Amino acid sequence: MPRISEKIESVQTRLAEVAQHNQVPLLLAVSKTRTEKEVREATACGLLNFGENYLQDAIAKIEALDDLNIIWHFIGSIQSNKTSDIAKHFNWVHTVDRLKIARRLSEQRPESMSDLNILIQLNIDDEDSKGGIAPAELMGLAAKLVALPKVKLRGLMAIPAPRTKFEEQLAVCEKIHNYYLQLQQQYPEVDTLSMGMSADLEAATKAGSNLVRIGTDIFGPRQ
Ligand SMILES: *Cc1c(COP(=O)(O)O)cnc(C)c1O
Repeated sequence: MPRISEKIESVQTRLAEVAQHNQVPLLLAVSKTRTEKEVREATACGLLNFGENYLQDAIAKIEALDDLNIIWHFIGSIQSNKTSDIAKHFNWVHTVDRLKIARRLSEQRPESMSDLNILIQLNIDDEDSKGGIAPAELMGLAAKLVALPKVKLRGLMAIPAPRTKFEEQLAVCEKIHNYYLQLQQQYPEVDTLSMGMSADLEAATKAGSNLVRIGTDIFGPRQ
């Protein structure tokens, strides 16, 4: 069996072992820095959703893989002069943290395409190195985003600071999940919590994530 398929199987097993009420999160393969060939190999194992951070690399890959029906997620930080390319090439954007960016994505989404799915990024540990809004800003920003015509607010994304102890990972993931429930209570169409990476996928799943973003544990360490 090829290497990637064994790794995907092992991630799926880990997710199934901790899934609550058999709700196994969607596996988003993070393909930044990976080749077109590696992405093809992962799609052959049944993966459909892929995440990219670097726009130029991503667009080249998206075009080269146009024969596959991949659902592309933008998960990198967004510069406002790049919104047009993001709006044209992706199905999802996980890193919305400003009204200005969301407004541009909505305006630049081609009329012929379905609404762009967006998630609000939450900066749960108040880290300067990461994007995302403070929890206190969540409901205010959400109210503005739901009024935009060509984007659809689907939920929340967060990247907690690394923690080594499982109990600590679980505690921060539960905190994020509570904000997600708050958002969903106000906007019932919200259905996506993007939380969990290779190092904390068990804690994130246990806390109620329904989309995990996995790079290393599918493709191996990045150079
Ligand atoms: C790179 C990246 C991931 C994947 O991280 P791994 O630890 O390799 O699983 C997930 N989410 C975001 C936003 C990333 O930039």
